[in-house]
Amino acid sequence: MTKAIICLLPCHSPNRPPLGLASLKSFSFHKGFDIKTIDYNIKVFNNSENKELWKPENFFPWTNKAGFKNILSKISSELDRIIQELLEYKADLIGFSVFSTNKITTEYVISGLKSRGIKSKIAVGGPQIRKDIDAFYFIEKSIADFSVYTEGEIPLVDILKDKKRPRGTIIKEHDNIITIPPESPKKLFSPDFSDLLNNKYLQSNTLPFMFTRGCPNRCAYCEERTLFTKLIFFDSDEFGIFIKEAKKSGIKRIIFGDSQINPSKKVFKIILNILSKHKGFSFEGNIFASKWISKYDIKSIKRCGFNVLTVGVESGSPRVLKMMNKNISLFKIFFLAFWCKRLGIKLKMNFIIGFPTERWSDFFLTLLFIFIIRPLKPIISPIASTCAALSGSDIYKNPEKYGITMLHTLYFRSHDNDYRIRFLRMKIFNRFLKILGY
Ligand code: SF4
Repeated sequence: MTKAIICLLPCHSPNRPPLGLASLKSFSFHKGFDIKTIDYNIKVFNNSENKELWKPENFFPWTNKAGFKNILSKISSELDRIIQELLEYKADLIGFSVFSTNKITTEYVISGLKSRGIKSKIAVGGPQIRKDIDAFYFIEKSIADFSVYTEGEIPLVDILKDKKRPRGTIIKEHDNIITIPPESPKKLFSPDFSDLLNNKYLQSNTLPFMFTRGCPNRCAYCEERTLFTKLIFFDSDEFGIFIKEAKKSGIKRIIFGDSQINPSKKVFKIILNILSKHKGFSFEGNIFASKWISKYDIKSIKRCGFNVLTVGVESGSPRVLKMMNKNISLFKIFFLAFWCKRLGIKLKMNFIIGFPTERWSDFFLTLLFIFIIRPLKPIISPIASTCAALSGSDIYKNPEKYGITMLHTLYFRSHDNDYRIRFLRMKIFNRFLKILGY
């Protein structure tokens, strides 16, 4: 039997157990493999005296070598302990779930394992391991044996089966780098959190879940379409199994990570129908301010147990919303906020500052929108970063459409703003929220 470990290194949110690891465990179990999942991120977090390093506003130093050098002085003994533990497992395969915030930590640990003669095959996967980001990097530099550049389930099982060319991976064969086409899983299984629930997470008795993968929308700044090429839906029996296990573990709250709980009227009805059969939980999730969402729908959401919803408003300027390809109306946002307030649902609102075509007039419309909607008591948090041209987004792929004259993920320059202006707007935005009492 192949002995395999899939782990997550710092830095990542310490709020809840990672859904990705739990999904891989359950899928491989259904295919005949009992893998071990380890959340080293939470272990290091719980042992650390520098917990502020895990705050989202402090993620940036984890992503660059100079910042990481400083962090390393605080966590190196923990990382050495992890390296030693992974060596002792003598696994056939060690997989790492890689995000932008733990890429450097992952490289550090893999290099520590290699310098101590690890025999295990190394696989990397996760949001950072995409063809347009770091999937090739980990193979070209011979850091990993497999770069899983797509959803992890099928590639992992192929690797566990010792297939020479696992689907959805990039590998090196006789010095040639080969990309093997991906395949999405046909069925998703109830995530298995059993290895992770002994850890102490910040949000106790809370688990993440996703009914759907993918999004039918095409917002210009978003990469969801690149991450999930088609919409996959979780079946109700598997959700029943998940709920049963969650109840046994004393879980009280479930946070849905779906891009939205209403990708279409049909899927929305199916989700609510399934949730209405499971009482005793409170739910939180994202909602898209679709034109068809009605007061009746929000009432149904509330009846099912949702007490927190998040909506992406992004801008108070209809012109910018149009450029973003965000098919929402600001009137609908007002109604949504009104219905949520009446029904006792907390509504969180997200905004994006510094979309490439955003001018000062658009920015002030966003502030005006927030001022006008304030009596309806939405939750608006300060933003930690300005709009980014993510590599899988339409902004990045078609920069000329958005007036971008110099392309860079964070420091792009457009006809209407540059990083300096965006940063200034972000500061004004956060200050404005503070003045309004947020
Ligand atoms: S921002 Fe949200 S609604 Fe828009 S494409 Fe991305 S996931 Fe879908």
